[in-house]
Amino acid sequence: MDTQALLEVKSLKKYFNMGKAGVLKAVDDVSFQIFKGETFGVVGESGCGKSTIGRTIIGLYDATDGEVLYNGKNIHKMNNKERFAFHKKMQMIFQDPYASLNPRSTVGEIISEPMEVHGLYKDKKKQMERVYELLEDVGLNRDHANRYPHEFSGGQRQRIGIARALALDPEFIIADEPISALDVSVQAQVVNLLRRLQKEKGLTYLFIAHDLSMVKQISDRIGVMYLGNLVELTTSNQLYKNPLHPYTQALLSAIPIPDPDVEDKRERIILQGDLPSPINPPSGCVFRTRCAHAMPACATMKPQWQEIDENHYVACHLYNKKVMGESNHSQIAATK
Ligand code: SF4
Repeated sequence: MDTQALLEVKSLKKYFNMGKAGVLKAVDDVSFQIFKGETFGVVGESGCGKSTIGRTIIGLYDATDGEVLYNGKNIHKMNNKERFAFHKKMQMIFQDPYASLNPRSTVGEIISEPMEVHGLYKDKKKQMERVYELLEDVGLNRDHANRYPHEFSGGQRQRIGIARALALDPEFIIADEPISALDVSVQAQVVNLLRRLQKEKGLTYLFIAHDLSMVKQISDRIGVMYLGNLVELTTSNQLYKNPLHPYTQALLSAIPIPDPDVEDKRERIILQGDLPSPINPPSGCVFRTRCAHAMPACATMKPQWQEIDENHYVACHLYNKKVMGESNHSQIAATK
């Protein structure tokens, strides 16, 4: 992993229904960086805004406010020519491979389409050779090029989606719930494939998922989202060893532990209530209606985004000395 930020998301907001009653704040002031060669995982319940972040980064949605910089360039301010070139560098893998593959096209046509759009090959034979190479890269074979998507299993279809995403030789891939629709046994295979391709091709990933156990396996760093807000961000190991935010703690407590002795003693934190509507989010801390530690300040003040340890960020009043008072804060730190 490099220390150079390839992607910088700065105070990004994406609201829907602007100018109407009931503005939906899907992403509300989110900032993070993704470094070259790393996998950055974004995790949270469905409806937390994680897919909207991916779609806004790649430019499928315009940002309501804030910036997305790719190699220092604001992608929402690119002209058509710049945007066309940018799309060669950044590609997306979708959750439902079947819905994202044209059922009337052969696999060969599906994978070669982006190459045609970008005019990569004048020689059709060379283009087809590249399709075969990509099929082999993702664990399929050249005979598959003449078949149609319905002839494949879910896992194979996701491999086709990955081959198509690789067709333009991108640097950055946004994988939006790429394994959620697959059987558990196939999920690990696709994760291993993504890992291998990352090593071989030096790819950078934004990996979006709701399953924290799978995100841990592939991510170098993880951002946890709740109701359009980033609530915690740190390395994958640190998040599992020392989760700080009550929401992260609840998500982690739901993951079964393979050791039966430890599993027996595992205490599950059950979240009360449903995810509130992003049209009418709670005041102050958006997690307060489900948080066992909520206190009066949580209803009136939005928690600050703070770095608690090196590379470990959290937005929660429990870690804010001003809100908790010096002594309480030290007690919390000591019992972490
Ligand atoms: Fe819970 Fe308050 Fe922290 Fe929000 S700020 S997570 S409500 S303790």
